[in-house]
Amino acid sequence: MTKRILFYDSKPYDIEFFERANKNYGYELKFFKEKLDKETAILSKGYNIVCLFVNDDASDEAIKILKENNVDLIALRCAGYNNVDLASAYKNRIHVVRVPAYSPYAVAEHTVALMLTLNRKTHKAYLRTRELNFSINGLMGFDMYGKTVGVIGTGQIGKIAIQILKGFGVKILAYDVYPDKNFAEKMDFEYTDLDNIFSESDIITLHCPLTPQTKYMINENSIAKMKEGVVIINTSRGKLIDTKALINGLKSGKIGGAGLDVYEEESEYFFEDYSTQVIEDDVLARLLTFPNVLITSHQAFFTKEALTNIAETTLKNIKDFYDGIPLKNEICYRCGQTFPGCDKMKKGRCF
Ligand code: NAD
Repeated sequence: MTKRILFYDSKPYDIEFFERANKNYGYELKFFKEKLDKETAILSKGYNIVCLFVNDDASDEAIKILKENNVDLIALRCAGYNNVDLASAYKNRIHVVRVPAYSPYAVAEHTVALMLTLNRKTHKAYLRTRELNFSINGLMGFDMYGKTVGVIGTGQIGKIAIQILKGFGVKILAYDVYPDKNFAEKMDFEYTDLDNIFSESDIITLHCPLTPQTKYMINENSIAKMKEGVVIINTSRGKLIDTKALINGLKSGKIGGAGLDVYEEESEYFFEDYSTQVIEDDVLARLLTFPNVLITSHQAFFTKEALTNIAETTLKNIKDFYDGIPLKNEICYRCGQTFPGCDKMKKGRCF
């Protein structure tokens, strides 16, 4: 029987890319705008698979309802899985697969776009010239050449960001809990400790995951160690930055600019149109008042190539699941890793 997939929190671009990729699979696809939570989980009745994105909430309560509705598989169409209660999924015997990488280039390139836009103020110039204001007062930037960029997290995205940034002739300082010394030698940069990154960098860019260790790594203390006028870029996860501390740093002038594709309380607002409403989040509202803050709405991943990879990998994960072949993109509930990092996963399935 044709397997039925229910997409929560779906947007027009999900429909376009998944319908195209599904021509090779022939699943029955149903797209709902609602996000998954304990109230909307009931909608999964009659579906074999639920397909989720970053702001769906697969809590224990929601997963229990998915189980009652005989859902076999949670297919995440994203890399992060902090929104899924993995222990509950395991207890309820629902497998969880994800798309571990769809386009690290997309995110790294957006990171550099934020850096350059903030520095050269092209977002302001665009608005000015459309109003026939050709003054350049207040638009002065700085040469990237010769500056020091601190890169925190040198996984797939951090590495590509380093490769791009090297083209500007900047000095790279990097920190990672698992430094890649060969890559550092090849790209001619140094690994150092966080304190040194904070004190030496003109620009700091975050590319590590959100974990208990990295939560609020940018806080009052770390900001105090930074250079006057430092520019901070975050395309990783919002909670890496204590936003109130960031705002204090911006108000005092210690922080010279912030480029944020993610925000710690983004789930309520990002991806949605609030242009005719009053927003209640005073912290986000304050951030938006700074001339030297540039916010994009979690769009770093948003390229044609990434959406094509997301749709194809998600449908392939589902096919592998029903074909009974090893699930290389299943997340192990015990360690949060996927094959081949996890021993259990070497057997092909988490359970
Ligand atoms: P990755 O797993 O390839 O790399 C993450 C790196 O962070 C690894 O090298 C890891 O060793 C390092 N790390 C782990 N803990 C650390 C710590 N405490 N301090 C310093 N480094 C640490 O991941 P990736 O594909 O490069 O993605 C990086 C992050 O980008 C993801 O965690 C995700 O949050 C974010 N992301 C954002 C978007 C977007 O659209 N904005 C899209 C995809 C990914």
